Amino acid sequence: MYFGFGIAQTGAMGGVILRTNHTYPLLEFVLFLGCFPCEQPIMHELSVTQSILNIALQHAEKANAKRVTDLHVVLGELSTMVDDSIQFYWDMIAKDTIAEGATLHFRRVPAELQCASCFKKYRPTDGEWICPHCGGVGAKIIAGEELFVEAIDIED
Ligand SMILES: [Zn+2]
Repeated sequence: MYFGFGIAQTGAMGGVILRTNHTYPLLEFVLFLGCFPCEQPIMHELSVTQSILNIALQHAEKANAKRVTDLHVVLGELSTMVDDSIQFYWDMIAKDTIAEGATLHFRRVPAELQCASCFKKYRPTDGEWICPHCGGVGAKIIAGEELFVEAIDIED
């Protein structure tokens, strides 16, 4: 099976790829309407994990999957999400679903900023958001805030 979906936070969008023997286009995108920035990061991760589970189950059922074995989650470098927390909540909430025991794989996407003064792109270093080209401090985030499910592996 091969199909797509995604969850997005702070405007970033993503698609899901799932491989076994069929190909589905990446048609469906699901917005995650979370609280960001959030003063309760633990609860935040719980709600994010719940969203990931809901989407995985929805698509797995649509594909008549017997089991979800793996989830591939993309996390921006600037995301406050902690891999271990998501895994922790996953083990808790995926219990008694077809996604119970699935392995979560996390891929970190590096941050990229665009200077508001000279419009050149750069990577922030050690949390410093100063443009290496012109010394400007204002910047727009181009990449690094992503949060989406890239792919799930299922048994059918
Ligand atoms: Zn600049």
